[in-house]
Amino acid sequence: MRMRDELEQKVGLRFSKGLMAADDKEIYLALLELTQEKLEAAAKIQGERKLYYISAEFLVGKLLSNNLINLGIYDQVKEALAEAGKDLAKVEEQETEPSLGNGGLGRLAACYLDSAATLGLPGDGVGLLYHFGLFRQYFEDHKQQERPDVWLSPKSWLKKTGVTFKVPFPQGEVTSVLYDLYVSGYESGVNRLHLFDLESVDEGLVKQGIDFDKTDIAHNLTLFLYPDDSDRAGRLLRVYQQYFMVSSAAQLILKELEEKGRHLGELHKYAVIQINDTHPSMVIPELVRLLTARGVSMDDAIAAVTKTCAYTNHTILAEALEKWPLDYLEEAVPQLVPIIRELDKRVKEKYTDGKLAIIDENDLVHMAHMDIHYGFSVNGVASLHTEILETSELKAFADIYPEKFNNKTNGITFRRWLMHCDPALSQFITEKIGPGWKKDAMELEKLLQFQDDEGTLRRLLEIKQQNKKNLADYLKAEAGVEIDENSVYDIQIKRLHEYKRQQMNALYIIWKYKQIKEGNKPKRPITLLFGAKAAPAYIIAKDIIHVILCLQDLIANDPEVSPWLKVVMVENYNITWAQRLIPACDISEQISLASKEASGTGNMKFMLNGAVTLGTMDGANVEIHDLVGDENIYIFGKSSEEVMDLYAKSAYHPWEYYGKDPEITDLVDFLISPRMMRLGDPENLARLYKDMTRKDWFMALLDVKEYIQVKEGALADFEDQMAWARKMLVNIAKAGYFSSDRSVAEYNRDIWKLK
Ligand SMILES: *Cc1c(COP(=O)(O)O)cnc(C)c1O
Repeated sequence: MRMRDELEQKVGLRFSKGLMAADDKEIYLALLELTQEKLEAAAKIQGERKLYYISAEFLVGKLLSNNLINLGIYDQVKEALAEAGKDLAKVEEQETEPSLGNGGLGRLAACYLDSAATLGLPGDGVGLLYHFGLFRQYFEDHKQQERPDVWLSPKSWLKKTGVTFKVPFPQGEVTSVLYDLYVSGYESGVNRLHLFDLESVDEGLVKQGIDFDKTDIAHNLTLFLYPDDSDRAGRLLRVYQQYFMVSSAAQLILKELEEKGRHLGELHKYAVIQINDTHPSMVIPELVRLLTARGVSMDDAIAAVTKTCAYTNHTILAEALEKWPLDYLEEAVPQLVPIIRELDKRVKEKYTDGKLAIIDENDLVHMAHMDIHYGFSVNGVASLHTEILETSELKAFADIYPEKFNNKTNGITFRRWLMHCDPALSQFITEKIGPGWKKDAMELEKLLQFQDDEGTLRRLLEIKQQNKKNLADYLKAEAGVEIDENSVYDIQIKRLHEYKRQQMNALYIIWKYKQIKEGNKPKRPITLLFGAKAAPAYIIAKDIIHVILCLQDLIANDPEVSPWLKVVMVENYNITWAQRLIPACDISEQISLASKEASGTGNMKFMLNGAVTLGTMDGANVEIHDLVGDENIYIFGKSSEEVMDLYAKSAYHPWEYYGKDPEITDLVDFLISPRMMRLGDPENLARLYKDMTRKDWFMALLDVKEYIQVKEGALADFEDQMAWARKMLVNIAKAGYFSSDRSVAEYNRDIWKLK
């Protein structure tokens, strides 16, 4: 049947009207149903051996267009709608974005599911169904406020499966209920994302903002992702949630194994589990517990589990490597404690080095250590990151298990991050080099033959210009904010964290503001765009948001400066925003303190869409630099070695920069200047000022001067538009390496070995 007829039929059946008479919401619902049926009918990817990718987060983004692209019917649907005078882009806006993730780690999980399905690898995601997600961010009095992110609706991509499991807690048993989302591969079959909900969950528990009774675990386990853990009840709740997730996952895995008629002791032959960061680590003792309870011996259970589990490390920030006090585990998951003690005992019998212990001398349980001892693979997420793990953070482990360590540089799916978010660029690339890049991203290198072709470069600039205009129109319509489409767009979008150094970018804003006030106007207006959520209990991160919002206001209301400088922080940064912002970007801000950003994936998305990176030699920026060369990236800042040396020697003191360099003094003092104090909250501003002058743990003052200088260099270079377009082209051409198809193929080759 023609797509138009299919659509007419669906709309007719549901709403008793024709396509032309239907509104966008009705069309969305019809398309949802139609697409879901096609996913249902699509081939389920099968195999003897199967991957279970367990993750606390899956930041999947809106699913309609992604599924249409992967099913190969996007253009047909778009044309059928256009025939009826409808706009697919408007229909897409009817979908609410699933709120199942926080940042890069969750987005990575989503990209990997897309690529696994695309490559025809049997692999399902396993996670939790959070009713209110992380939270929905809004701004009030220049501050972040939070409310529940209500995203679930009666009609959605979720399918109730009827599968349930009992999860034991000391307070009593609870029931997990399994929902599935289809994960479509690009012109391939489908896998699934398994999301567990708590049968007895009670949304009514949330009364004020995002507060709720954290102790009421029979009703709260799937309300929020990462609920506030600044108190004991909050931290215990994390343990309860994690156990709820992994116990359900482990039971599902064993159920599938039994259904295949396999012996439980052969788990490792038929299943491989990727543990995405330490949140799912308790799957190891839980599987041992379940296997032994079903008659497998302790030795065999431990051996099978060790050959089944692989761990991905996402960070070297000590505070993010989870360590649970043993008494928390005794309180929340007492059935796991004897197993964890047994696992720890076996380690201690073999190795005397205390650094290798699972349970340390303070009775803290190191989840990552358990993963490394009782998994067969440990991977970092970019070469620099893996090298730091091997030579520094996890050196003791790399010394005893060199064969377990491997690098898997992150990647992104080009279906969402180019084909979907930038159709004009995508089409132009296809015109130039054919469609082969969609299946083999390395073919983008063919673009290099056009690096001196004026027509190609001009067209790239035109496409960027149109994307910038689209963003300007959208911001005007959505947020009532006007930005100048002829300005240079400089964008920093990512979770708010001190190590990512949005505060250093804020210092640049202050510097530029002062320059303009002194009469040094830039050649071209500059628009600095931000998007970032701060964890609700992360005080300094919220103070940084406060400063950026105050600067936004200050500048917008200063007629001397506002024609030249504009600061906009978008509310509730998410995938949908990212898809609008990235194609419009000229300069991509990747300015983390060297050694702190494990990989970054935002950097890859920007590069792929023809933005030029301004960044430190950190995470995957290092690999971007290797690929594009000095000419096509702006690098600044101290190296990871220098930074790690400063930490090792406790040799960084911000006051040596703040007090001794009058330029820096001026910038930092501005935070508590009368102008800022009048606009903002003196308590917040003073707290950040104090932190930056006395602590500055992530060394913004160390790199800020070189940052300003190199950024000014990039802005100057932007004026030579043809030279700039050449940089854009090289970045796009070299982005192929960062396709998640490449990452996932490597995971499969070295770790999963699915086929
Ligand atoms: C890609 C992405 C991230 C990760 O960004 P980084 O700059 O790598 O930290 C976070 N949030 C969203 C919505 C993303 O799309």
